[in-house]
Amino acid sequence: MSERLSQEQKNLSQWLACSDCDLLLKRKTLVEGERASCPRCKSTLEVRKRDSASRTLAVAVAGLISFIPAMTLPLLGLEAVGLKNESSLLECIASIYNSELYLVAVLVSLFCIIVPLARLLIICYLMVLVRKNRSSLIGIRLYRYFHEWEEWGMLEVFMLGMVVALYKILGLASAIYGVGLISFASLLISATLVTQFLDEQYVWEKLSGQR
Ligand SMILES: [Zn+2]
Repeated sequence: MSERLSQEQKNLSQWLACSDCDLLLKRKTLVEGERASCPRCKSTLEVRKRDSASRTLAVAVAGLISFIPAMTLPLLGLEAVGLKNESSLLECIASIYNSELYLVAVLVSLFCIIVPLARLLIICYLMVLVRKNRSSLIGIRLYRYFHEWEEWGMLEVFMLGMVVALYKILGLASAIYGVGLISFASLLISATLVTQFLDEQYVWEKLSGQR
């Protein structure tokens, strides 16, 4: 039964519908840098990105390297009337927890630490599998989680919150920009570049052994 199903899935994956005009077309295997467009409406059907796995792996590793300083070093500080105060993301969460806002502390940890870290680790592992040409059922499951958790990683929201807070506070005190802030920005850029370099269709095909 499962064999028949996987055969049917394989047959179905040979077909591709144009997202603009619904024309059904037989999928062609593209080489790196090649682009397939619809013969009827000329819209782009698929693009095979150049050196996708290596580039994605490189930016994901860069993100992982930025992760520890982004979490542990001071992000922002304030200086007013001779008093200075700086804190890192982990200290912020500890302070929220100590203020008995337990749910907020758990949510911030989940969306700003656990989900982004898990997604970076997953994509590193998957890119290693793709580069080694290994098909993997666990890989496919992890790739699904990678997509499902996309909306739950909220590094950008946190960054936006910091910018707004900074704007509000600047009139009252002078801000100190910590090393953690640069690392956090680097983490954010790396996480964005991962989605830019990732060739989604290519990864599905590699992990399911269609290539
Ligand atoms: Zn079309």
